[in-house]
Amino acid sequence: MKKINNYVDGSLNSISKKELSVQDPSTGEEIAKVVLSSIDDFQKIIESSKKSQIEWANTTPLKRSRILSNYKTLIEKNINELAEIVSMEHGKTLADAKGSVTRGLEVVEFACGIPHLLKGEFSQNVGSNIDSWSIRQPLGICAGITPFNFPAMVPMWMYPIAIACGNSFILKPSEKDPSCSIRLAELFSEAGLPGGVFNVIHGDKHVVDLILSNEEIASVSFVGSTPVAKYIYEQSAKHGKRVQALGGAKNHLVVMPDANLNQAVDGIIGAGYGSAGERCMAVSVAVAVGDIADELVEKIHHEAQKLKVAPWTDTESDMGPVISKDHKDKIENYISIGVKEGATLVEDGRNYKIQGYENGNFVGPTLFDHVTKDMTIYKEEIFGPVVSVVRVKNYDEALNLVNEHAYGNGTTIYTSDGEISRHFTTNSKIGMVGVNVPIPVPMAFHSFGGWKQSLFGDHSVHGMEGVHFYTKLKTVTSRWPKSIQSGPEFVLPTN
Ligand code: NAD
Repeated sequence: MKKINNYVDGSLNSISKKELSVQDPSTGEEIAKVVLSSIDDFQKIIESSKKSQIEWANTTPLKRSRILSNYKTLIEKNINELAEIVSMEHGKTLADAKGSVTRGLEVVEFACGIPHLLKGEFSQNVGSNIDSWSIRQPLGICAGITPFNFPAMVPMWMYPIAIACGNSFILKPSEKDPSCSIRLAELFSEAGLPGGVFNVIHGDKHVVDLILSNEEIASVSFVGSTPVAKYIYEQSAKHGKRVQALGGAKNHLVVMPDANLNQAVDGIIGAGYGSAGERCMAVSVAVAVGDIADELVEKIHHEAQKLKVAPWTDTESDMGPVISKDHKDKIENYISIGVKEGATLVEDGRNYKIQGYENGNFVGPTLFDHVTKDMTIYKEEIFGPVVSVVRVKNYDEALNLVNEHAYGNGTTIYTSDGEISRHFTTNSKIGMVGVNVPIPVPMAFHSFGGWKQSLFGDHSVHGMEGVHFYTKLKTVTSRWPKSIQSGPEFVLPTN
């Protein structure tokens, strides 16, 4: 049985004998065991991260950039292998896995520009013969705690920038699909990164709590569900750490009566059912405005029935299984609740069986109509292939729905009216907004993050927000007086 160890100081190594089973979501079979790290493993990683960081911070940004550039080439060279590792443990299709690695790679490309990104500000003569400048310095040891749904991309939102800024980074990946993080770390070493600058520690809540209470760790970046994000935010703040904690989502796609309906339906199908709905930017609510609802529901239903649900090894697959048996049960329970609460179940994905994969965690595409805002399936994040259609009379009602929802990750509007689209992008209380684009995920050189219950903390991830999160600002004021000594001053200097 394959054993997944920690990655410490440039090699695989674990002390703890405790393990957890890693399963293939398509078959339900165990494919590996991952170490559940102990406090000794953790201490070892802290020592390694602390030692390496001092030297790494003294490495010039240009040298760091060259290592990142080698890393970019190695990821490109090994992208098929990385995607396969993602698909094998997560279950998503190979093409989708490859796309997610590419989105992570884009952050590495962004981080290659670190000499430019770290440039400070300079003012000559802020006072007579006094100059002042601002610089950004690394925090020290940074940590990242990541979810199962993007085992390559989400960690890559964090560590390339943190490391480019001169920090060392400890990654605690999801215990459900932990292998990809190890391959990513190995490739970074191969690219020339000194041992200890990027360490990976496996484990569950126990390791997370060690990270949160450790005094040597300066910052925590978290991506996962909202209850855990809240906990991470509170605990990190309590221990004096800088923290960004991204949580769950309930993304609305608003379809206006003047929208190109086929385009909107394609958007809902891809963003609602792609990756079995296990994306934080998945569309889980389609808001039908005015009299288009019947036609919209009919078209979504027609397209949903055509989707091929199959394991990642089937190249024709549109969506794979969900991550675990527990998660499948949870999603199916939500569907039952939706029926009980009075929504119309147009397509039922429960008890979905695929020949030869009877123990796989498959849930078929599910569609609800006549969902209302008081229903559980509307209020809560399901994180599965379930799309709820809510019917509203007009645009104002649609905007209110979006704004009153507790989550604020992403939203999008399909319309051919520029004025409405401008009003929507300006007035929606959401972090990432699209117009005629199903999943408005910002590129690496912009920043990714939601509002409300979807993000706790002040910084989004990657882009300049990432550079600012992983650095401390320092402003220097300097004078080189040759001769004049004017005595102490007791009032604030002004010009
Ligand atoms: P999760 O919150 O269960 O786990 C995330 C990480 O936290 C894992 O590493 C896990 O080991 C750890 N963890 C779990 N429970 C913990 C606890 N009680 N105390 C401390 N640590 C704990 O999330 P998940 O199921 O792996 O991922 C799915 C969730 O992530 C969804 O809610 C999804 O919306 C969210 N997500 C959000 C974004 C975003 O950008 N906002 C991106 C991806 C995923």
